[in-house]
Amino acid sequence: MAATTEASAPLLRLAGVTKRFGGAAAVDAVDLALAENEVFCLLGPSGCGKSTLLRLIAGFEQPDAGTIRLGTQDLTGLPAHRRPINMMFQSYALFPHMSVSRNVAYGLADRPRAERAARVADLLRMVRLEDFADRRPDTLSGGQRQRVALARALAREPRLLLLDEPLTALDRALREETQSELRALQRRLRTSFIVVTHDPEEAMRLADRVGVMAQGRIVQVGATAELYDRPASRYVAGLLGDVNLIPGRLGPGEPGGLRAVEIASGSLRARSPAADLSEGDAVVVAVRPERVALGPDQAGEGATVGIPATVAERVFLGDRIARTLHLGDGSAVRASGPPEGADAFPAGARVRLRFAAEAATILPA
Ligand code: ADP
Ligand code: MG
Repeated sequence: MAATTEASAPLLRLAGVTKRFGGAAAVDAVDLALAENEVFCLLGPSGCGKSTLLRLIAGFEQPDAGTIRLGTQDLTGLPAHRRPINMMFQSYALFPHMSVSRNVAYGLADRPRAERAARVADLLRMVRLEDFADRRPDTLSGGQRQRVALARALAREPRLLLLDEPLTALDRALREETQSELRALQRRLRTSFIVVTHDPEEAMRLADRVGVMAQGRIVQVGATAELYDRPASRYVAGLLGDVNLIPGRLGPGEPGGLRAVEIASGSLRARSPAADLSEGDAVVVAVRPERVALGPDQAGEGATVGIPATVAERVFLGDRIARTLHLGDGSAVRASGPPEGADAFPAGARVRLRFAAEAATILPA
């Protein structure tokens, strides 16, 4: 991350950008640096300010405070049509009475006719719609309409393309295919994208880096693997996927950046928290279900490791087996593993659960 923000000047830089509607800040003191050729995803639930942030960058809204720079240019106060930025809306906003090629040509009215025609042909080839040039949008599939909107948004070769939930209208299979296409297209164009999504899997498929938003703020930025494995809060941990949050009290530090946590059924170890916490503070240990391994409960043999638990439920899910385990104090932990182990540890079995200390993150309770 440091390399992209320090080695070369960022393409886009936001500092303290704030937008209020009435009293409430829809976007609250956002700082952000975007590199050239980067795909950055803004991830967060509905209403957290993602679209407002895009609209501020595009110039459809003006910030109440803060600055937006593109390269060396200060965009603050510049109207949308003067910014080398384009935006693709959630609804695609295609003109229903115009053909595909006229939709794509819409932003090129100032270009000579021949140049415009050549550019439209290029763009339609790029999104694989060269055979659909004369069709109307309402005769196309959802995926094709999405590609028309993309071609139109790219027509003027923006330095930055903003995409607001570009794939939500597509069904799951088409969405995955379109995500791969979009990413391949971006690599060829070498244009930077900011993509808004509320779907963590979409962020994982598309993004170089992700900014997680909550209530108008960007609360954590990183590669998806980083956010998934090292969330800085319960909020980020839960947003990126299923996670166990085991309550406990922070114990003493250990060598190797590890820390003990006392939980109801014993003691475990996890990576030291990034947050400023003291011994005895209430914490949760965040650990993903696929990181929780099960072993037999051989109490009495002396060599048993792990937390004693009982399998409450076992569900076959095709590509994995999901188990819910009850700890001694009645709290639940979810474990998921390969289907090969389907016969082992049925409901009712007494087990020991384990996970690597490095796979678990201590977070403020
Ligand atoms: P998201 O795209 O993450 O769903 P939005 O940026 O659309 O979130 O909205 C963030 C907050 O700002 C919401 O509470 C929304 O109601 C409010 N908001 C957005 N646009 C306006 C507006 N033009 N006038 C008043 N409130 C708005
Ligand atoms: Mg939105």
